[in-house]
Amino acid sequence: MGSILDGKAYADRILAEVKVGVEARLAKGRRAPCLAVVLVGEDPASQVYVRGKVKACAETGITSLEHKVPATTSQAELEALIDRLNGDPGVDGILVQLPLPKGLDAKAALHRISPAKDVDGFHPMNQGLLFQGLPALRPCTPSAVMRMLELHGVSLKGQRAVVLGRSEIVGKPMALMLLEQHATVTIAHSRTSDLPAVCREADLLVAAVGRPGMVEGSWIKPGAVVIDVGINRVEDLALGERIFAAEPRKLETLKAKGAVLCGDVRFGEAMQVASAVTPVPGGVGPLTIAGLMRNTLQASEALG
Ligand code: NDP
Repeated sequence: MGSILDGKAYADRILAEVKVGVEARLAKGRRAPCLAVVLVGEDPASQVYVRGKVKACAETGITSLEHKVPATTSQAELEALIDRLNGDPGVDGILVQLPLPKGLDAKAALHRISPAKDVDGFHPMNQGLLFQGLPALRPCTPSAVMRMLELHGVSLKGQRAVVLGRSEIVGKPMALMLLEQHATVTIAHSRTSDLPAVCREADLLVAAVGRPGMVEGSWIKPGAVVIDVGINRVEDLALGERIFAAEPRKLETLKAKGAVLCGDVRFGEAMQVASAVTPVPGGVGPLTIAGLMRNTLQASEALG
């Protein structure tokens, strides 16, 4: 039986490290780091994510500024707001909460953010620096996963790592960071043939796909470490009965509440094969927020 890789506990450790960094800044007479969060529209899930980020700011001593603008905001208005925040010397980090309402170009908005304030690490400049192994603001999810692996004592040198998913925000940067730490990395995606066999080669398996319970226990190499980035809401009982066969509590919640959150990995099955598995929720989600706080501190240090 594997152990639960408690992302929340590791996130708390990272937040504590950030708090120490913020206090050290204040002790030198410098102001607290400041994160500006831009929320366009009223998407309920985005509101929850923004609340979580603002709460983490408060816990670490980072100042947060919320800019809530209506869903009717035009691209030009959104970019004007980003320009204003780019030019504001009191702002160290800018985060535009995704997804944006229909009609807005998320990529253009993200590319408008000054690379020095790009705490999500999505700007091509920061992604290029990561590609070259140079210091940069790196995407929060993979960089916080790396810190958790380090704190957990996972040695990556010479290990086979498989990253499921090739997005610019998770899969690709995750693969680069694992490569940097000397893992032998395979990136798998929707066109990969024989995905189960590819996954079974992994000493470290990172799933960032967005398909509930796609990774079955039989896809996992015995003793592997499994990081489940996916966050999926399941409402379909037939699907739940299939993917939660080894996780009766999830199935009960689905039946009782009509919906339940889960990852890309069948957690109950994975726990029977792997050495450690991150749960969903309570795994990579809190780590991502901790990574954002770390990036905000890093941006403020670089900006002076
Ligand atoms: P994207 O949709 O951008 O990318 C998904 C990737 O999965 C793509 O590369 C796609 O392949 C691949 N994929 C999709 N279907 C399959 C399949 N059937 N078999 C193999 N590969 C497949 O998603 P993100 O990277 O943005 O996010 C992935 C998941 O992680 C989502 O559930 C998201 O909610 C979650 N997430 C969680 C975070 C957290 O803090 N915990 C942070 C960010 C994301 P292809 O390129 O070929 O289409």
